Amino acid sequence: MKTDFDIIIIGGGLLGCATAYQLAKRQAGHILLLDGNEIASQASSRAACLLTRARTKPALMEMVQETYDCIGEIEELLGESLELQQCGSITIASSEASLKGVEALEEAATRFGIPNERISREQTGQLLPWIDTDAIDVALYMPTDAFIDSALLCSGYAKAAAKLGVTLRPNCKVKSIVAENGQVCGVELINGERLQAPIAVNAAGAWANLLMRPLHVGLPFTPVRSHFWITDIDRKRFPAGHPFTVIADARAFTRSDVGALIIGLRESHCQAFDPSTQTDKLEDFDFNRSAEWTVLDECAPLLKRYLHDIDDLPIAHYMAGPSCYVPDAMFIVGPVKAYNGLFAVAGCCGGGVAAGGGMGRLAAEMICGHAPFVPPTLFAPERFGEIDPFSTEFQRRCADARSNKKGG
Ligand SMILES: Cc1cc2nc3c(=O)[nH]c(=O)nc-3n(C[C@H](O)[C@H](O)[C@H](O)COP(=O)(O)OP(=O)(O)OC[C@H]3O[C@@H](n4cnc5c(N)ncnc54)[C@H](O)[C@@H]3O)c2cc1C
Repeated sequence: MKTDFDIIIIGGGLLGCATAYQLAKRQAGHILLLDGNEIASQASSRAACLLTRARTKPALMEMVQETYDCIGEIEELLGESLELQQCGSITIASSEASLKGVEALEEAATRFGIPNERISREQTGQLLPWIDTDAIDVALYMPTDAFIDSALLCSGYAKAAAKLGVTLRPNCKVKSIVAENGQVCGVELINGERLQAPIAVNAAGAWANLLMRPLHVGLPFTPVRSHFWITDIDRKRFPAGHPFTVIADARAFTRSDVGALIIGLRESHCQAFDPSTQTDKLEDFDFNRSAEWTVLDECAPLLKRYLHDIDDLPIAHYMAGPSCYVPDAMFIVGPVKAYNGLFAVAGCCGGGVAAGGGMGRLAAEMICGHAPFVPPTLFAPERFGEIDPFSTEFQRRCADARSNKKGG
């Protein structure tokens, strides 16, 4: 088996696979992608899957647009559908503060050419048969927003990358990134095997800082619990394919799921995890499941004015997973200055499905020395100076970025 490559990517989730695809598209050389588990099996198979286009930061809109572009390209390359569901989205405001947020979003969307219109309570009620429309002051409808099965998207990037020549090795855990005299030389696997490459891309998701620790580098993020609930099926009330919603005043989002409703709620104090406590597989990790009902107790009353019977709604499933939050809620993409050839694509801030294509593109452009399509300083790994991601103080700063999240 070949042991020397031009680029080794560690992590076969959305960020690693999107980076592999973008590098392969640019004919960046012999590329190897390694994952300690199956590809697309970790955080990237636990998402609520919203592809929210409108953002108040233009660079983020560019990144999400890139994901939509990748979906089209990959479908063409593979000759198969990635099953994008163009359901539209409705952002709801019921207070002065959230109205300001909607206005900012409306302005950004219009500037970027994203179709949007304010709709009446009656129209909102027709599109969302479950909502109590009296609670709504303003509803902003964006008909081109969509959702997609995140595992299918991730496998799509991986399959497209493989078709363009990338070698994929799942179930192959990296023990360490090897560097000599400040230059990356490759990686060592847990079975002792050495693989060589002058460039290593750390896209190991919630585990990325465990690989950085021996190199004395800290990436500025911490894993934070993200979660949602799925109701029992009620096809009349929750018709398949109805628009997803973002309800800032309830710190909530909803999405249709084959006749059920996905309800995402953000508690006021999010739970951060020390990266060193993580298990190799998410299925073995305790996301503090016992707190599930406490979170519902705190958050459900905020949603009650929009969904009056939430207290009695039968809940069929609960899903929790790590999102990697950064204090400024922006991603981490770029070279790690301490080592020549070391790059990071991490800190997804709960947006790796929507923005993964763009994060991969920015990483590939920087690795290939091409002009970046968004300002790279916004995403520079060192922008917070020296930080310790294993300190509780830094983990709290990251969790605060998630606790304040109201958007989609
Ligand atoms: C509940 C929930 C809801 C979400 N909803 C949305 C949403 O609606 N929209 C959105 O855009 N985003 C959403 N997200 C975020 C999205 O899921 C993430 O941004 C995305 O999955 C991150 O991808 P990743 O590649 O960084 O991580 P992962 O998918 O976890 O991939 C990292 C990979 O690295 C591998 N790895 C780790 N260490 C090693 C090692 N030493 N050697 C080899 N491999 C290694 C792991 O096995 C893993 O497969 C949500 C997340 C959660 C948890």
